[in-house]
Amino acid sequence: MYMMNSGYNELRKELVQRLINEGIITSKKVAKAMSTVPRELFVPGKYKELAYMDHPLPIGWGQTISAPHMVAMMTEALDPEPGNIVLEIGAGSGYHAAVVAEIICHGPKYGHVFTIERIAPLAAFAQRNLVKAGYGDCVTVIVGDGSGGVPELAPFDRILITAAAPTIPKVLLNQLAVGGRIVAPVGHMWEQRLVIVKRISKDKIKYEYGTYCVFVPLIGKYGWREDRSRYSI
Ligand code: SAM
Repeated sequence: MYMMNSGYNELRKELVQRLINEGIITSKKVAKAMSTVPRELFVPGKYKELAYMDHPLPIGWGQTISAPHMVAMMTEALDPEPGNIVLEIGAGSGYHAAVVAEIICHGPKYGHVFTIERIAPLAAFAQRNLVKAGYGDCVTVIVGDGSGGVPELAPFDRILITAAAPTIPKVLLNQLAVGGRIVAPVGHMWEQRLVIVKRISKDKIKYEYGTYCVFVPLIGKYGWREDRSRYSI
């Protein structure tokens, strides 16, 4: 089946309305961003027709693009603002980075998203998708282990981890600006909880706990081991 562009626009609108009705999208900025970013450009060709089902989809190398409701929930929790400097750990398809870019790269305050991916061909996939969708200027894709952040680019106003982390390491907290937030699925390899970390001041950090969720593992120095057997530090 071939879907005309207008068909995707209609499906995108319906999905966003459904997420609003379900109370998952609560802000105008997230509604607008998810109504704008064409998710069909971030999924492999054979899954395009499924792009507006509220489901994760395979993107190759055993990885997934997260379900739209999870992207919405995490973006609401992240609360990005125009002009923010954002680090995403786990670029995958590039879709979530595009949703954040849509919010932070508008108006006179032009922010930037750095998104890091450990699987090089997936980083290339994300880069191609972001350019195709028009976010090439606002997003830089980096290849490597992002589990310890990217200290040389810090501080970040927002840090988004889109893979399951065993914990939020201190090295990442050190890269968060005052007034900044980290949103991450933290916990067991097979089940996590969304954690929101707020840096109130230089010395004060506040933790909030959201929904239970299931993400692919964060693999790296501050994540899980490659064989997924156990915590690597
Ligand atoms: N945000 C993505 C999107 O919009 O498509 C979905 C992310 S997917 C659920 C998790 C991604 O994290 C995978 O592509 C995986 O390879 C990547 N990943 C896992 N460990 C990583 C690490 N230490 N550094 C960077 N990327 C990592």
